[in-house]
This record gives sequence, structure tokens and C-alpha cells, in this order.
Amino acid sequence: MNDLNKSQEERASRLHKEAIIVDTHCDTLMQLLPQPWGMPEARKLGERSERGHIDLPRMIEGGVTCQTFAIYTGRRPFVPEAPLVAMQMVDKFYSEIEANQEIMAVTNSEEIIDAKKEGKVCGLLSMEGAEPLMGELAALRIFYRLGVRMLSFAWNYRTPFADGLGAKRAESKLPELGLQALDEMDRLGVIFDVSHLADSVFWDVNDVMKGAFIASHSNSRSVCDHPRNLTDDMINALADHGGIMGMNFATGFVKKEKDKVTVEDLVDHIDHIVGLVGPNHVGLGSDYDGIRKAPEGIDDVSQLFNITRVLVKRGYSDDDILKILGGNHLRVFKEILV
Ligand SMILES: [Zn+2]
Repeated sequence: MNDLNKSQEERASRLHKEAIIVDTHCDTLMQLLPQPWGMPEARKLGERSERGHIDLPRMIEGGVTCQTFAIYTGRRPFVPEAPLVAMQMVDKFYSEIEANQEIMAVTNSEEIIDAKKEGKVCGLLSMEGAEPLMGELAALRIFYRLGVRMLSFAWNYRTPFADGLGAKRAESKLPELGLQALDEMDRLGVIFDVSHLADSVFWDVNDVMKGAFIASHSNSRSVCDHPRNLTDDMINALADHGGIMGMNFATGFVKKEKDKVTVEDLVDHIDHIVGLVGPNHVGLGSDYDGIRKAPEGIDDVSQLFNITRVLVKRGYSDDDILKILGGNHLRVFKEILV
């Protein structure tokens, strides 16, 4: 990774500083929550840790502008305590933000742009799997009021809203409740996330949705054959809707050969997607703190600059680099979040 010349290094450095860098998925809230719902040794967002991938000092070092923090409760097919765990995560999100001057909570694109001007990092709440909603649109509205602006209907199992990709005999269509929730999300301004949905459900979403949707943390299946990644047909469909896919750093989603996975391998996915649908539909969705291992060169959030360096090395234009680092996501946030 030390093969950029001086002017390339300077260009990468300038672009990385200028960029509004958006990451649409991490599981850090789980790492911040103590047991019984979280970790035996819960971390603090404001304290640099040797463990995990994200904390505030490392975010600042890595130049992240907006980090999406996922509320995730779906480790088992049915989780009766999911609403309680979700509330604990929302509370942890806001209490950590209150405790740290350098980060602010945001719910739309203007607030992200303002945060960048003020030199602050921002956090956006998302929900990964609709388990905490317990099949209630009222709960969707309540979590919206609590700041959730991005939602996926299922993690790997079946929820009342849709089937995840691990559901046995996954239903190909969204149930009535899923359709009603999509209408409500459209009315409120909540981004729909297709990562983790069964393939057949993806295609139903593609049929019923008019506007943009995202895949917050999924890569290209033709580069790395994994069911969590999207096929070229899916990527074309997502792009037709004006959507974005956030590149997932999980080594198993990046490359099949397990031995050595590097940041260059991750950028191979970006190359493929840009080759397929142009530079307007790809961004970052690290999955940090939800994955066991990240590629070499982006071992944690403090090293994000290496992505910019590889993009420069591979000849991307300034405009395209700014789009990939976060400009594309900001465009969809502006369209959907009010
Ligand atoms: Zn996930």
C-alpha cells in the first residue's frame, strides 16, 4: 500500500479531508451495551479501545463524517425482549452522544453537512431487522420519533414484515404488513434497506417500490459468491431505482479465498459495480463491530484513508471518489430524509 507517488498521496489526502464520508452500517451499539443484552466488557464510545473497530477517537482519526449505528436484536428467530433491547440501544446511542462533544445525532442530510462544517462526527440511527416493532406500525412511528431513519425488515429470519435470507421456505412476496410499512416509511421519510432480505423478497420490493432503496452493507455476488451479496441483476435494479449499496468489509463477503484479504480486494467490488452501473450507486457500509475480521489495510475505522488511496491509485476522478466515500449516500438521504 505504499505505492502512491507524492502527488497521488497529496491528492488522496486532500480528497479524504474534503469528503463527507458516510458509512451505512455498524454494530457498535451492541459493543457499547453491557450484559445481559450486550457484551461482558462493554466499551465506551469516547474511549479508544484495542478491541472492536469503532470508537470516537478512531472515527475522528479515520475521517468519518456520518456513521450509521444499527439497532440489532435478531440473534434468534423470535426475540420477545427485542423492543426492550432496542430501547436500551437507543438510550445508549443518545447517552454516549451527550457524553461526547465531538459527535452529534443527525436525522437528515443538512445536519450532516453542518456537522462537517463544524468539524463534528455524526451518528444516524438505523434498525437492522424489524423484530423490535413486534408487527406494529405504531412502533415504527415511535422509533421514527426516536430518530431511526433507516430500516431493514428482517435480519436472517422471518419477521411479520418480510422474510430474511435464512428463512426456511422464504415467501417471495412482502406480506400485507410489509406493504403497509413501506407506505408508512415513504410518508415519514425512512430509508428502506434490502441487505439481509431473501432474493425473492428483493425482487418483490423492486416491483412495489417507486423510489430509491439501499443495500446498507452488501457487496457484489459475481465478485464474491455469497448470499449476502447482490447479483448483477439486483445491482442493475437497485441502480434503476437510484439506490446505493454500501460495501461490507467482512472478509467472507469480500473474497472467497480466506487466507489474505486486503483493502484492494474490497475496491475490486467497487470497480465491478462502477463498471456495471456507473459511479452513482456505491458507497461504504463497513459492518464494523459486527464482523470478526476486516480486510488488511482497513483493520478498523481509523484506517479508512487507505480506501481513498486505492481509489486514487486506480485512477478514479475527484468527483467519483467524493461520491463513493459518501456523496452518493448523501444524495439519497437528501431525497428521502426530511
Ligand atoms: Zn448485517
